[in-house]
Amino acid sequence: MAGRQRAFVAGLVAVLAAVLAIGGCSDEAVREHQQRRRAPGAPAAPAPQAAASPASAPEAPGPPVVPAPQRSGVPPSPGALRVPVAGVDASMLRDTYDERRGSNRPHEALDILAPRGTPVVAVAPGRVVKLFTSEPGGLTVYQFDPTERYAYYYAHLDRYADGLHEGQWLDAGDAIGTVGFTGNASPEAPHLHFALFRLGPERQWWKGTPVNPYPLFLGGPR
Ligand SMILES: [Zn+2]
Repeated sequence: MAGRQRAFVAGLVAVLAAVLAIGGCSDEAVREHQQRRRAPGAPAAPAPQAAASPASAPEAPGPPVVPAPQRSGVPPSPGALRVPVAGVDASMLRDTYDERRGSNRPHEALDILAPRGTPVVAVAPGRVVKLFTSEPGGLTVYQFDPTERYAYYYAHLDRYADGLHEGQWLDAGDAIGTVGFTGNASPEAPHLHFALFRLGPERQWWKGTPVNPYPLFLGGPR
């Protein structure tokens, strides 16, 4: 009786051990598989991956799907921009966008000639993003359009309008400064160098794709 019981218990233990062994094995296999699947992103990579995914998502998959069509789908329309130099009518503008400048660089902007001191005004509503002084541009202003997909660039200014500051909202026609020849402009030909950029997804004021603004001055109210 005791012997049979002992044998029975021993057998049971053996069976249980076998079951546990099998269970343990398969369990280990699953765990190993999971670990392998997790391996690239588990011990070392998971944190960087998790951190990188949200950061790179808007850059890589985001732009092609959502922002790109939106950006290209809403181009400024003709007549959308007001001529930024007082006393200059749209019909007086010359399309200097495709002209070549020093070292055959494409101009990619409009030059609007006017006497030094002529008021320069905003072409459209938007926020002043940067007041910047550069060697070629001299005294310049970068303004974003309300959608912040485009930037307006005003260069060679003689001076800024009183109180003009970064973050300031401007309506079309609000004072920006005055025409000058700061930067690489000739004192013989003071002018406003005006450019339009389509901003990248990062919306950096210093980076963008030039767009010819000339047609956008035509066909509007003035
Ligand atoms: Zn120019």
